[in-house]
Amino acid sequence: MENHQINLSIRNVSKTYGNGVQALDNVSLHIPPGMYGLLGPNGAGKSTLMRTLATLQDPDEGSIRLGEIDVLRQKEEVRQTLGYLPQEFGVYPKVNAEDLLDYFAVLKGITNRAARKEVVGRLLKQTNLWDKRRQKLGGYSGGMKQRFGVAVALLGNPKLLIVDEPTAGLDPAERVRFLNLLSELGENSVVILSTHIVEDVSELCTNMAIINKGKILLEAEPMQAVDALKGRIWRKLMPKNTLEQDQQVISAKLFSGRTIVHVYSEENPGNGFELVEPDLEDVYFSTMAGFNKSCQQVEEVSI
Ligand code: ADP
Repeated sequence: MENHQINLSIRNVSKTYGNGVQALDNVSLHIPPGMYGLLGPNGAGKSTLMRTLATLQDPDEGSIRLGEIDVLRQKEEVRQTLGYLPQEFGVYPKVNAEDLLDYFAVLKGITNRAARKEVVGRLLKQTNLWDKRRQKLGGYSGGMKQRFGVAVALLGNPKLLIVDEPTAGLDPAERVRFLNLLSELGENSVVILSTHIVEDVSELCTNMAIINKGKILLEAEPMQAVDALKGRIWRKLMPKNTLEQDQQVISAKLFSGRTIVHVYSEENPGNGFELVEPDLEDVYFSTMAGFNKSCQQVEEVSI
């Protein structure tokens, strides 16, 4: 199969942990090449799904295919073509980036010295760490460590790259740099970005899903999902703590000491509300609140 045709297909995947928590509830997703955003609050089941895709744990039920590969049965094949940047990963603080990346490259099976030098150099440049390659990783900032993690994940040209909550601990400048790096990754591979930050998805992803309590609530293209909300999101600026109970409030944000309230309504709610252009945050909050049923699309996919 040609690389550019690789799709990831997740069908009816469920997982209940030993403590009784159902982390995944009949999850089905069709993930094409490109950047895919898996958006959901803490505890939604994102990491459980990411670890399952990375062959680190098994679901109770369901099937997963990456192109021709049966992910749950052909784990070695998956691992050969997988790059996984977990939520938290350790680095050896006393080793420099170049040496550690070289070491991981050996583990990945790149045994030829010259080939390894070329790959390590290219990845350090791609992740903008070339100038800092001799610096010990213990002295790296959060953003630099994350970019180093991407360099490690990219060893061996993965066809599936999984990045779990990568921007959580980054300052705004580091976050932008990190997202720019992700956006440059090949369009030929499947890149899954799991995050609770709506902007990560709106800035980067061509396809997305919203997950909550183990269930997929929405699978959509961000732009289409935003379009589908046009004419339904209304805004009002209020003094603090004066929310009206009868409105379908989807978000209330403090701004300069006042509260900006967004409500979902198919008709003009009157009462001083004005129509606003929806954005992905409105999609997220109205979906989470159960109002956004118009563009719900959770359908069976064929492999
Ligand atoms: P997210 O990545 O979206 O924050 P997780 O997949 O980490 O969500 O967690 C989903 C749910 O499963 C949470 O309620 C969490 O507490 C629970 N959970 C996660 N890992 C385990 C585990 N190893 N054992 C028991 N419960 C777990």
